[in-house]
Amino acid sequence: MENYASSLSRLTGESTLLYQEIARNVERTKGIKTINFGIGQPDLPTPQRIKEEAKSALDKGFTAYTPALGIDELRSKIAEFLTQKYGDRISKEEVAVTPGAKTALFLAFLMYVNPGDEVILFDPSFYSYAEVINLLGGKPVYVPVNFDQNKGFYVDSNELLSKISQRTKMIVYNNPHNPTGMNFDSRLGKEIAEIARDRRLILLADEIYDYFVYDGEFRSVLQEPWRDNVIYINGFSKTFSMTGWRLGYIVARKEVINKVGILASNIYTCPTSFAQRGALASFDTFDEVKKMIDLFKRRRDAMYSELIKIKGIRAYKSSGAFYMFPDFSEVLKTAGLDSKGLAVKLIEDAGVVTIPGEVFPEKMGRNFLRLSFALDEEKIKEGISRMKTVLEKLA
Ligand code: PLP
Repeated sequence: MENYASSLSRLTGESTLLYQEIARNVERTKGIKTINFGIGQPDLPTPQRIKEEAKSALDKGFTAYTPALGIDELRSKIAEFLTQKYGDRISKEEVAVTPGAKTALFLAFLMYVNPGDEVILFDPSFYSYAEVINLLGGKPVYVPVNFDQNKGFYVDSNELLSKISQRTKMIVYNNPHNPTGMNFDSRLGKEIAEIARDRRLILLADEIYDYFVYDGEFRSVLQEPWRDNVIYINGFSKTFSMTGWRLGYIVARKEVINKVGILASNIYTCPTSFAQRGALASFDTFDEVKKMIDLFKRRRDAMYSELIKIKGIRAYKSSGAFYMFPDFSEVLKTAGLDSKGLAVKLIEDAGVVTIPGEVFPEKMGRNFLRLSFALDEEKIKEGISRMKTVLEKLA
């Protein structure tokens, strides 16, 4: 008997992982080696210093529970680091270490979303926001991310304002942005922070890609007055190639962090002990981070210059994260496909994995595919060339 809680039925279960699964099937059945533009993680190893620190913690027996909010040293280090970076005195009590940024996001929604509450999300956005909001009985309300081939992706803050109702509780602002790869104009963050303050809304800022910036200035929400209403989220996954370590963090005022502690102790007790020790060393590896960002910039350039050779695609050279989000509307129209159909076709016929824009709800992504450039330049070139061959047959 399937007696699941009714909230579960509100999950679509849709995620980027499905397309990796289709690719594995194609590899098995057709014997093709696929090229994977679907990945959402850096392909480089975790810096050695971080691994050594975690190994040494293991050897020293640092394997027991830690405090729910994380070890003091790591909370202090994060606080010091952000204080230095943004010039605002952030204390350890304003920081909670979590098992990944995803858990941090989950806790943030759990703390604020009541059934019927509305949360403003960008359309498209990281798929997990809407899933969790729906799970909690909240309602995602979307503000479109518009596309202009010359300007890139942008959001009109007046349009965002028009989406606010009596039921609005929260605005989610992810910058640099997954899936568009946009480092939004710094004015947007300022305007959204102002709107949230004026309307007394929670501003959930997801800045997990803050180091992956190739063009323009990056402005953090922590550079605005944040203590009243901001929940800031970041993590170690992307910047330090630590996706499997599961370490993220929340910055918010002390009272909020105390609530995080209560939830944490009931849900996961604490983040993994030795992983936290490893993360302490991450702050000494920014020379490696810089090299990675330079490498990713070259990969981005390579992907863009190959993509624009394909007829019928409109691409913008992304300014952040490690995603390109080209517009395939012309191709889709001619081929009579939607973005999911095209993504499946590209896996089956070209052996190339992309993520259809439709999985980043709700509508705006439907003519787009997300391509990650977190892989070798050679593979990028080969993958786009394979796509070109298949797409030209469709034209
Ligand atoms: N936020 C965004 C926008 C992401 O793209 C991702 C991962 O893909 C996450 C959060 C989750 O990161 P973590 O690995 O720290 O859970």
